[in-house]
Amino acid sequence: MADPRGFIKIAKKPAGNRPVHERIRDYSEVEQTLNSEDRRLQASRCMDCGIPFCHWGCPVDNLIPEWNDLLYRGDWKGASDRLHSTNNFPEFTGRICPAPCEHACVLNIGEEPVTIRENEVAIVERAFAEGYITPAPPETRTGKKVAVIGSGPAGMAAADQLNKAGHHVTLFEKDEKIGGLLRYGIPDFKLNKGTIDRRISIMVEEGVELRTGVEVGKSIPGSQILEGYDAVCLAIGAMVPRDLDIEGRDLDGIHFAMDYLSQQNRVVDGAYVAYDNRITAEERNVLVIGGGDTGSDCVGTAIRQGARSVTQIEILPKPPEKRADDNPWPYWGKILKTSTSHEEGCERRWSLATVKFNGMQQRVTHAEVEEVTWEKEDGKYTMKPLPGSRHQIQADLILLAMGFVHPQHEGLLNELGIDLDQRKNIGIDRSTMATNVEKVFATGDAVNGASLVVTAIASGRRTAKKIDDYLLGAENRV
Ligand SMILES: Cc1cc2nc3c(=O)[nH]c(=O)nc-3n(C[C@H](O)[C@H](O)[C@H](O)COP(=O)(O)OP(=O)(O)OC[C@H]3O[C@@H](n4cnc5c(N)ncnc54)[C@H](O)[C@@H]3O)c2cc1C
Ligand code: SF4
Repeated sequence: MADPRGFIKIAKKPAGNRPVHERIRDYSEVEQTLNSEDRRLQASRCMDCGIPFCHWGCPVDNLIPEWNDLLYRGDWKGASDRLHSTNNFPEFTGRICPAPCEHACVLNIGEEPVTIRENEVAIVERAFAEGYITPAPPETRTGKKVAVIGSGPAGMAAADQLNKAGHHVTLFEKDEKIGGLLRYGIPDFKLNKGTIDRRISIMVEEGVELRTGVEVGKSIPGSQILEGYDAVCLAIGAMVPRDLDIEGRDLDGIHFAMDYLSQQNRVVDGAYVAYDNRITAEERNVLVIGGGDTGSDCVGTAIRQGARSVTQIEILPKPPEKRADDNPWPYWGKILKTSTSHEEGCERRWSLATVKFNGMQQRVTHAEVEEVTWEKEDGKYTMKPLPGSRHQIQADLILLAMGFVHPQHEGLLNELGIDLDQRKNIGIDRSTMATNVEKVFATGDAVNGASLVVTAIASGRRTAKKIDDYLLGAENRV
């Protein structure tokens, strides 16, 4: 255990964020870092509980008490090695994971959990700075070839694991750069893209082959991949956005969140976007429809672009500030979350359904909304409009951030004849991660539906293990 009395002696000390007035002028990361001594003291708060609920809460099964102990003792290399034994990319999760581990931490009973996520990123960044993380290609090769299609965190984790197991891995990506939603969804102010480039360059030196700008099923047929590889891993995400099919939807100025966010990430990366195609919040009254993380990322981006006002609305009721009785520790706390983007200046409203978009000269000017109530009937919540509550919200840029429905079916999935599940995600046998098509496996959001980076990494690791079993037999795994 780090320090048996650490949690009594040392108060929780988050690293904090850059001041709002400074950070809204750029796209650099918002979160700051603690000095090494403070970080060590934060690690000392970990009690190495007999039953580490944090470990249970972490989808990649990070050995949290173990690396907290090593961190407290100043063994940064040992901590990094232990961290990497379960997580390929702690530099991503350490920055942007919503940290279900901290919700499950025993100290969270008193609402002062160990700063697990911050400790994680501190360990991996120190390990990079000290040169502990270097390319380590596998000593032997199996002669088997695997195609991983899609380079988000699930595809990257699967490729990394399979390459480490000695297979020759080719990672296909339709976009111009690797990373999936890490690259073109999550804004730079949450995750700087240098972290992806740094990790990818190590993977390339270790032998992973990259093929970007290739949409399998369009640029090249899926059948060609099936012929050329011993196994195929579909890691194509779940990027079909949920739409709002209401009057006025075709007005100018209404966009899917991902079209907006991905363009801004490309601009930050130096891409040129023609004026007519540019989606910008500059001098606009912005309305974000959807109260989740994607919506919050739109808020932060709109503020940086110089929006006149930003409003975010959500159809569900406002969550409570504290856990409800039916949502006890150590489960994920369904409580109000205020992101750094919200702190930067945004009006948030709940229990509002959007019923119509109004406009002038083909451009949206207002969204018509009505208040709704949520009533429990036969154990199920039903939404009811509140009579007489209709009103307008002025907005000349509207961003639809209402989640994602399933992966794209047109192209690759249809061509290969991949079976879907009830939610129209890729259907797999969960015990093998295999699809209905021989030698084709699937992973990440494409099978789970839109989720988190950490669940995508966990899924990628699991699918890689199953592919390895398929290629070599469990008993021969390298
Ligand atoms: C705006 C936004 C913000 C988010 N913020 C967070 C956050 O803060 N924390 C968090 O934990 N999670 C966050 N998420 C969720 C997280 O990013 C996803 O759950 C995760 O990226 C899913 O990983 P994946 O590898 O399964 O798929 P993706 O990241 O979606 O990657 C799929 C990749 O496959 C490629 N592809 C698709 N079809 C083909 C094809 N036919 N050929 C070649 N390539 C193809 C795509 O171009 C893409 O690069 C966020 C999501 C969004 C949209
Ligand atoms: S990956 Fe997420 S859940 Fe796991 S230890 Fe890190 S912050 Fe916690």
